[in-house]
Amino acid sequence: MFSDIYNLIKEFDKIVLARHVGVDPDAMASTMALKDSIKLTFPDKEVYAVGSGSLRFSYFGKLDRVDDMHASLLIVLDTPDKRRIDGVNLEDFSKIIKIDHHPFVEKIGDIEYIDDTASSASELVLKLINETDLIMDKNIAGKLYLGIVSDTNRFMFNNSTGRTLRMVAKLIEDYDLEIDKLYEPLYLRPINEVKLEGYVGLHLSLTENGVAYIKLTKEILDEYQVDAASPGNMINNFNYINEVMVWVFFTEDVKNNNIRVSARSRGPVINTTLSKYNGGGHKYASGARLQKMEESDQVIEDLDLLCKEYKELEGGLNDSQEC
Ligand code: AMP
Repeated sequence: MFSDIYNLIKEFDKIVLARHVGVDPDAMASTMALKDSIKLTFPDKEVYAVGSGSLRFSYFGKLDRVDDMHASLLIVLDTPDKRRIDGVNLEDFSKIIKIDHHPFVEKIGDIEYIDDTASSASELVLKLINETDLIMDKNIAGKLYLGIVSDTNRFMFNNSTGRTLRMVAKLIEDYDLEIDKLYEPLYLRPINEVKLEGYVGLHLSLTENGVAYIKLTKEILDEYQVDAASPGNMINNFNYINEVMVWVFFTEDVKNNNIRVSARSRGPVINTTLSKYNGGGHKYASGARLQKMEESDQVIEDLDLLCKEYKELEGGLNDSQEC
């Protein structure tokens, strides 16, 4: 598998890397790190990373505009399905490689490197570089470190395994990573976002069976001068609340004319429920898109039922997990 991927990379003069819409640090880190590594290994190749960017993640590197993608190799990272790939037409490419850690949804590539037990797409890129003649340097190591840290929520999610920690430890040692300096661009945030987090904490509603939810309209976002991506940046901070088993934010996204749904769980598997709402993702970290805010009540009802069934299946929760 690793040598097949390496050989395809070696074969093509022009390579395009793409990842999912609604870019996040792991998607950005895995893409930019692999781009940098290919460029370092094969300086004469044309290597491009495409998709719409976010100012917030610009420290990972600049995205490219490519007018002609024909006869090139496409590498799709961190994306399980065609509909969520950002910025490319699959038909334009001669060959496609997929590198992903989401549960399998559909075949996209001629070669598919999928491992849904891996913490992140960045962990998979790290493994690929380690197993082939692709070159690593401190800059690439730093990006991969941030991708892994971000998708594991600083190694708190159960997608961090012994393997993840061993790989990360070696990365820090081998490339002398200064982790405090690396964290700064990842975790620095505007005070308005902190204030919005306060608002969310104050206004969370809770269902009978432990679903905490909030509906954030354009008016609320405007009041705090944040955009529709901001609530998603803070959702992981609402973990480990006694009464909450599943938590979900509904955010009005005027630019895309839809409602962003971001959900997390510390018990029930939620991605199957969210896939009914134009969504998907991981078992315990999942998202969806709705057309109207009114649809959110049905999502809440479904998630509440899921929590109820989970409680019954688990035979009741202990006091600290009551939901
Ligand atoms: P988020 O809450 O946006 O951080 O997303 C959590 C996970 O769900 C990530 O793996 C996303 O790629 C995935 N995800 C978010 N929105 C969608 C969607 N509309 N369809 C499928 N997967 C999604």
